[in-house]
Amino acid sequence: MKTIARLAVLVAAVLVSMAAAPNPRIKALIIDGQHNHNWQVTTAFLKRTLLDTGRFAVDVSTTPGEQSPQAEWGGWWPAFENYRVVVLNYNGGSWPAEVQESFTKYVSGGGGVFVIHGANNAFKGWKDYDLMIGLGGRRDKDDGNRLTFDDQGELVRTPKGEGWQKAGHGTPHSFIVTARTPDYSIIKGLPVKWLHAKDELYHGQRGPALNMTILNSAYDAVSMKGTGAHEPMTWVMPFGKGKVVTTVMGHHMGDSPEVPALQCIGFQTIVARASEWVATGVVTVPIPSNFPTTESISTGPALTK
Ligand code: ZN
Repeated sequence: MKTIARLAVLVAAVLVSMAAAPNPRIKALIIDGQHNHNWQVTTAFLKRTLLDTGRFAVDVSTTPGEQSPQAEWGGWWPAFENYRVVVLNYNGGSWPAEVQESFTKYVSGGGGVFVIHGANNAFKGWKDYDLMIGLGGRRDKDDGNRLTFDDQGELVRTPKGEGWQKAGHGTPHSFIVTARTPDYSIIKGLPVKWLHAKDELYHGQRGPALNMTILNSAYDAVSMKGTGAHEPMTWVMPFGKGKVVTTVMGHHMGDSPEVPALQCIGFQTIVARASEWVATGVVTVPIPSNFPTTESISTGPALTK
């Protein structure tokens, strides 16, 4: 009897542990390989940020380099359908048409995409991509509409051909990020205003800007060579059955070991929660206790070599 009782306890324990087992890890694919930024270090940060949550399994797919012969592109065709979120850390040459088509099919069929910083500079002229990102960098005023907020928090739509000439950024600095849809699950519970570590503040971005939900924005001070408007920082776009989140935070160029924008706990929290949301439609990644406040930035460790 004793043995049977022990067995029963063991079986019960196994059942309890199965019930308490964490969600299976979300399969994420980071794409990099060509960029005007330091994409190697950026990918390392993104990967670490996702893995540290315990929610993701992360693969990286690196495209052929800029100087690679055309033939090498034939061997690059990620199996997007095997992933629930594709993280774009890429700003380079056009993908082969069949890869673009399969990416579009992946997203419209319900796939998740998270676009970071200069990746929204990419693929000018790829219409589906423009619809996915809503607003792009490296575009000028004839390339689409512009969305900003005024000082009262009202959304301002500037039509194509009018307003600020060219997408870009002013002097990099630390700036306040302000929630515009504070109850949206990705940012719910975050301070309405928090201080982001030194970064480029993208401005003047252009695109179709249709069906965008802007999660947060930042005031682009004229004293920092900015536009004097509140520029969108992070936003959500539906694309077919898929979900796309773009954040224009996360600049890193050069070889400095200090990478404030990527080390920022606020940025990392958005990376993790947005990636989870585009993949699953829900957010379980907690908000860290050391999240930045209105007064002070908060950064995590640099990468160890
Ligand atoms: Zn940059």
